Amino acid sequence: MPAVPTIVNVGYRSTNYWVVSAADSRMLVDIGWPGTMGTMCANLNRMGVPMGEIRYALATHYHMDHAGLAQEFKNAGVPLLVLETQIAAIPLMKRHMKPQDNYVEITLDGNVSISFAESRALLAKIGIGGEILCTPGHSGDSVSLLLDDGSVFTGDLTPLGSATDEDKAAVAASWRLLRERGARVVYPAHGPVRSLKGQ
Ligand SMILES: [Zn+2]
Repeated sequence: MPAVPTIVNVGYRSTNYWVVSAADSRMLVDIGWPGTMGTMCANLNRMGVPMGEIRYALATHYHMDHAGLAQEFKNAGVPLLVLETQIAAIPLMKRHMKPQDNYVEITLDGNVSISFAESRALLAKIGIGGEILCTPGHSGDSVSLLLDDGSVFTGDLTPLGSATDEDKAAVAASWRLLRERGARVVYPAHGPVRSLKGQ
């Protein structure tokens, strides 16, 4: 049995960026605002996370506060882990950027693209017990990382009570899937960690 991974937050600007670590094998969940590599590196440093130990970066979805630094991480040697439902969303990122955002466009080359079914084996290779699940609702390309201890990284998956009528069905289905697979503690991209109970 792999040890339970540790979780630290290297976030800033009201956004949580989570580092999941199995000893010195780490994964970054959500990848910064564009143009903020300096802040991100300072936070990683302060939390004792060497860039060279980050085995993958995963964006819960391709919105600017979640994947803004993905190409810069790739350039620094951290592969971008992309799920099958996310590939088409990557080129759309640049549509929302202004020149002053200093966004470095994410290229499709060098990305590690996998299916959801392949995620458990890939995570096991870096010592992390868990899987990545398809959890649309906030956006079609939204995914969640669920660890075997019940910790789940949900990005912007809308709390059920706040879902609008139009996305309510997808949001409810995503929360139901997470609960069925054993999710207990929610690590969202914005706001505090919370229990899944009463969600
Ligand atoms: Zn979003």
